[in-house]
Amino acid sequence: MSEKPPPFTVSSFYKFVSEKKLMAAKCDKCGTILLPPKPMCTKCLSTNLEWIELEGVGKLLSYTIIYVAPVQFQSLAPYIVGIVELKSGLRLPGMIRGVEQEEIRVGMDLKIDFDTSVSSQWPAWPRYFFRPL
Ligand SMILES: [Zn+2]
Repeated sequence: MSEKPPPFTVSSFYKFVSEKKLMAAKCDKCGTILLPPKPMCTKCLSTNLEWIELEGVGKLLSYTIIYVAPVQFQSLAPYIVGIVELKSGLRLPGMIRGVEQEEIRVGMDLKIDFDTSVSSQWPAWPRYFFRPL
């Protein structure tokens, strides 16, 4: 008997992130990829899902510069938050680092990276971010 997969929840997603893996749920029945993962396919309502690892490379779709940050991120402000369209077509929001505000542009190539230095205190910022490819 194979090992039971972790539940298809956002907390499992972040647990994978802490292991430096970008994982999504894939529906076995219709092939829909759920990111963030959900316990049931949003298209065909199947609960027959599996975990797949995504390639964390994509293009910047849009971004916002955050000047007024929540308490736990104040030391980082101003920072950039963007939406990245991955090669698979899925969209993932995240902080963007390693780019000057004057240099950021829609359509630039970005790559996911993982931050293991962030404390795991709740509420924790997702421990992944994007940086230029
Ligand atoms: Zn489905």
